[in-house]
Amino acid sequence: MLKTFAGSSKASMRVAHSNGVRAAVLYRQTVLAGQFRRGMATESEELDLVVIGAGPGGYVAAIKAAQLGLKTACIDKRGPPGGTCLNVGCIPSKALLNNSHLYHEILHDTKKRGIEVGDVKLNFEQFMKAKDDAVTGLTRGIETLFKQNKVDYYKGTGKFLNAHEIEVTGNEGERSGVLKAKNIIIATGSEATPFPGVTIDEKKIVTSTGAIALEKVPEKMVIIGGGIIGLELGSVWSRLGSQVTVVEYMNAIGGAGMDAEFSKNIQRSLAKQGLKFKLGTKVLAADPSGDGVAVKVESAKGGKEETLDADVVLVAIGRRPYTEGLGLENVELDVDERGRVVIDQEYRTKYPHIRVIGDVTFGVMLAHKAEEEGIAAVEYIKNGHGHVNYGVIPSVMYTHPEVAWVGMTEEQVKEKGIAYNVGKFPFAANSRAKTNLDTEGWVKFISDKETDRILGIHIMGPNAGEMIAEGALAIEYGASSEDIARTCHAHPTLSEAFKEAAMATYGKAIHF
Ligand SMILES: Cc1cc2nc3c(=O)[nH]c(=O)nc-3n(C[C@H](O)[C@H](O)[C@H](O)COP(=O)(O)OP(=O)(O)OC[C@H]3O[C@@H](n4cnc5c(N)ncnc54)[C@H](O)[C@@H]3O)c2cc1C
Repeated sequence: MLKTFAGSSKASMRVAHSNGVRAAVLYRQTVLAGQFRRGMATESEELDLVVIGAGPGGYVAAIKAAQLGLKTACIDKRGPPGGTCLNVGCIPSKALLNNSHLYHEILHDTKKRGIEVGDVKLNFEQFMKAKDDAVTGLTRGIETLFKQNKVDYYKGTGKFLNAHEIEVTGNEGERSGVLKAKNIIIATGSEATPFPGVTIDEKKIVTSTGAIALEKVPEKMVIIGGGIIGLELGSVWSRLGSQVTVVEYMNAIGGAGMDAEFSKNIQRSLAKQGLKFKLGTKVLAADPSGDGVAVKVESAKGGKEETLDADVVLVAIGRRPYTEGLGLENVELDVDERGRVVIDQEYRTKYPHIRVIGDVTFGVMLAHKAEEEGIAAVEYIKNGHGHVNYGVIPSVMYTHPEVAWVGMTEEQVKEKGIAYNVGKFPFAANSRAKTNLDTEGWVKFISDKETDRILGIHIMGPNAGEMIAEGALAIEYGASSEDIARTCHAHPTLSEAFKEAAMATYGKAIHF
């Protein structure tokens, strides 16, 4: 499997050049070469699978492949595995969301519950450390899983030399070499889409990566883009005391997948929490030359310009596939106009043994979608068949209240000309939500008028992100709303609101 060994790590090269301690370098090279060879096969031997990228798509694919008996290596240039999701995406943002919510609750919500807290202070350093600890704990966990499953993990950049060989350039102190593989999975993920004419410095003008690592709470923050990432991070900083303004080109927030009435309601809710919204508004420029950043905006339809002052500007207009340094040119794989590597239904490129999964190819950019594809792609390799139901990929926005959905929006059902029923149930009529003093939002079912088969489920409310799993299971199993309504749900739970919305779809709810 190891065809060549580059002979030295970058670290040892530097030692050699800087002080010429040749013996030490030679010793280190020998040790490293030994490490590289340990557990590695001979030059002529091929791996069954090399996975490039250890995000949720790549690491899950690598573990699954090893579990199925494939000799597998996985490469990631970030070093700690887990990709965008664990290092700079889902996990750190949820740590910040959870803890900022707690802080906000203690400041504004506990009094009415009879809990009077003294002098509440934000220990910002510890607050950020809690997030970092969550990340470190989980990425280390993936490294342990790699070891347990005998996935050979390389911390370095993978580059195609040809359709069967991947050159690994190890990060400082890490192994380098060339891996030969019968199968290759590209799982190189995505990066934040830049805003034309706005230069990111990750300090004053940041992507989500900078926004989860700010050094202090900014007084004023402007967020370009009212999608899920912008709204989640806007919530975090607003709860910590920033004045947050969200500028969105479209007339609605939450992105295309969110059902329109949920988009309107969560906007109202976030506005009550202090976020300001400028919808139908276009950003013209962001000038960081002063103390802060001057953000020039105008109505999307054209009209009077306005300048918004910010200490920090978050550019959150979406993400784009990432293939830099991958050497795609050496294998001439097809990429579409949005940078997505082109594949067929079985994730195959024009070389059937090279497959692509996750953010770097088609579909929604979500960690669980990438994971499902990782498993399916490996099953195609091993067994010749695999399966992902793209109609049942849940989405969650982890604001408070959370918004979660699965299946079609009402707008999509209408567009398809399907006759449908809608059933709704508000958390204000749910005993557990009332007891918890957390009653904002409701559950909405959409089902086929004729068959009652569930077409979509949408929830805004406490724990919506957990509750949507039941919706995904129901749609996956082809359930009708009556199936859910006739399933016993524990009392008192928020999930009774789910059951009652189902009851309201084909008949009537009891408590509303
Ligand atoms: C702030 C934020 C919050 C998010 N929150 C959520 C959420 O709550 N839920 C959710 O489902 N999704 C969320 N996402 C999206 C989620 O992170 C992505 O959909 C997911 O990480 C995609 O997984 P992936 O495996 O395709 O790619 P990635 O996770 O992007 O991993 C790709 C990996 O490939 C590596 N790589 C790239 N090129 C090479 C190369 N040539 N050689 C070696 N390694 C390479 C990169 O270093 C990277 O680690 C969030 C994203 C962001 C930015």
